[in-house]
Amino acid sequence: MTAVTICDTTLRDGEQASGVVFSVGEKLEIARMLDEAGVPEIEAGTPVMGGEEAEAVRIIAGMGLDARVTAWNRAVISDIEASLRAGVEAVSVSLPVSDIMIKRKLGRERAWLLGRLGEAVSFAKDKGLYVCAGAEDASRADMDFVMEYASLARECGADRLRFADTVGVLDPFTTYARIRQLTDAGFTVEFHAHNDFGLATANALAAAGAGAEFLSATVLGLGERAGNAALEEITMGLGHMLKIDTGVRTEKFRALCERVASASGRSIPCGKPVVGDKIFSHESGIHADGVLKYPAIYEPYEPGEVGAVREIALGKHSGRNAVMYRLSKRGVEINVVEADMLLMKVREMGTRLKRAINDDELLSLCGTQI
Ligand SMILES: [Zn+2]
Repeated sequence: MTAVTICDTTLRDGEQASGVVFSVGEKLEIARMLDEAGVPEIEAGTPVMGGEEAEAVRIIAGMGLDARVTAWNRAVISDIEASLRAGVEAVSVSLPVSDIMIKRKLGRERAWLLGRLGEAVSFAKDKGLYVCAGAEDASRADMDFVMEYASLARECGADRLRFADTVGVLDPFTTYARIRQLTDAGFTVEFHAHNDFGLATANALAAAGAGAEFLSATVLGLGERAGNAALEEITMGLGHMLKIDTGVRTEKFRALCERVASASGRSIPCGKPVVGDKIFSHESGIHADGVLKYPAIYEPYEPGEVGAVREIALGKHSGRNAVMYRLSKRGVEINVVEADMLLMKVREMGTRLKRAINDDELLSLCGTQI
């Protein structure tokens, strides 16, 4: 399987999420944390916006990160000049390629668009930049035109093509077919997924399976509408399912996600894959018993891999072994008969409170029994 480079765009596409604004300080901190997590490429922002946006990109580009720092641009010379002033070594140069966007957003024709692409990519390459030619809304575009666009970008020196599922309408099967068409023709492809149907991670993995060497991602999947492919999900999926090591340090995800969540004013759902608080919490009797015997029975990977800790919760669905285990962690040993009696009280309390019960509550139940 081809190696995959993760291109994190939390600071660009992620910040485009409605109501999200990162301060310059937060951007620098997030960039530093992404770099420390081994994320190899960071799309840091859109310099032509000027002000703090340009300043943040300029500082991040000068931080001496191991990650390649890139900036987003329309296919406009003045955009690329702003990126050059920001000091980035790479740019994404983007144009929409679907007819709906070419006609209704730009009021143009395909030929005009190709002219702009050639001019912008050639200009950026002349300046010595690494260039990703972005094909916005490629998933709704005529594939013949996408191939034409990709060919021209490559002729002008573009280093890769970004195939964007801008409104998140692809399924994994179609993604595989489209990306395969491009990689079979020898193009170097980045796949940029959005999550409108909850398929961003699946589509990103399908693209990698079809030979995409680059995948866009954002921390927690933060991004426009339902967001992008989540960095933490696709990294874990690539590693465990496709056996592709991205070099990203997954144990850093928890702190990174918490930082991005607080900077974006959004909370992390407790069941969020990879980083949710409760994803290694086992309550139901059969599951908790299984995990206590051998964790892999009910866990897909070790919690420590993502900086998490296993928890045996007690509540309505608990079994006897979980009660005995939790008490023994607090230095209280009881026999099976006592555990069965206590279990009834635990279940009753969990049902009444509609939540898991904590150690103090367990000890007090135990105390009333003994
Ligand atoms: Zn996007």
